[in-house]
Amino acid sequence: LRRRGENDAIQCYTEQMKVDALARLSMESALRKAFEGDQFALVYQPKVDADRGCVVGGEALVRWHHPTEGVVGPAAFIPLIEEMGLIGQLGQWVLTRACEDIARWCRDGVPLVPIAVNLSALQFGRQDLHESIRDTLAAHGVAPEMIELEVTESILMRDTRATAEVLEGLHGLGLSLAVDDFGTGYSSLAYLKRFAVDTLKIDRSFVQDCAGTGQDPAIVRAIIAMAQSLGMALVAEGVETEAQARVLQAHGCAVMQGYLFARPLAEADFRAALCDGLPGADRLCARVG
Ligand code: C2E
Ligand code: MG
Ligand code: MG
Ligand code: MG
Repeated sequence: LRRRGENDAIQCYTEQMKVDALARLSMESALRKAFEGDQFALVYQPKVDADRGCVVGGEALVRWHHPTEGVVGPAAFIPLIEEMGLIGQLGQWVLTRACEDIARWCRDGVPLVPIAVNLSALQFGRQDLHESIRDTLAAHGVAPEMIELEVTESILMRDTRATAEVLEGLHGLGLSLAVDDFGTGYSSLAYLKRFAVDTLKIDRSFVQDCAGTGQDPAIVRAIIAMAQSLGMALVAEGVETEAQARVLQAHGCAVMQGYLFARPLAEADFRAALCDGLPGADRLCARVG
């Protein structure tokens, strides 16, 4: 009996593997079609200066409008896109769309703010990154100051000459660089000195409990103090409560991104926020400050 049970287990396992492999294959083919079918879209999440109550930046975040599953977030498909070797193509699509939107806002007289675009570590290894970014900006007449690149610590930890050269090259174009999810990787303070990074984005995991009683308030204070003494700009990500915003602002981190102020917005809504401000942001910031 026992032996039979084991066989059943093995049987189940291989069945499950078959199901997984099929699901993956169908997702791969759906992703390939997504490029042809124009199924990707960008949403923009505002970055708000709580001192002044206004939108000072935005982050472009990719979405996949799946024909049957609805809107799929990047965490569910970017790892597969990377494995498929298509992250360069997706990254190029994201930057192009962001530049098209910025150029249109500019033509329409919308007050502009810098827009951040996320770079995957795999994109970073590509030889043509510098040229393709430079050419995309030029093709759309977008000034490099309008684009910020968000990179993760995993990129910066590859503490090689090549990394430094790519970063310096991008900086040389006039783009600014932000360290995304700061504090979650194998943070090495050495790379902050070595590389030309302008902004630290304090990861949501520290922000979450920064108004609590654990160690996160101390970590957040230390990150803020360090960024200030290195002359770096700061953004807190994932700010959800007024209590968190108050603590961050009291310690000198005024620029915040999170559901408290705004969710990632469709292009038309983000554009409206640039023109008219975020509804309720004034009063919210007055309460926080
Ligand atoms: P990220 O760059 O750290 O972006 C912030 C993520 O946190 C976004 O999730 C955003 O919607 C979410 N978020 C913002 N405020 C709050 C909040 O107050 N509470 C909570 N719980 N979440 C908040 P999203 O859009 O699902 O993106 C997830 C990650 O996918 C991004 O993390 C980024 O690493 C990656 N990603 C997004 N777009 C792109 C892209 O175009 N290219 C690449 N390579 N990666 C991207
Ligand atoms: Mg980001
Ligand atoms: Mg982030
Ligand atoms: Mg994050």
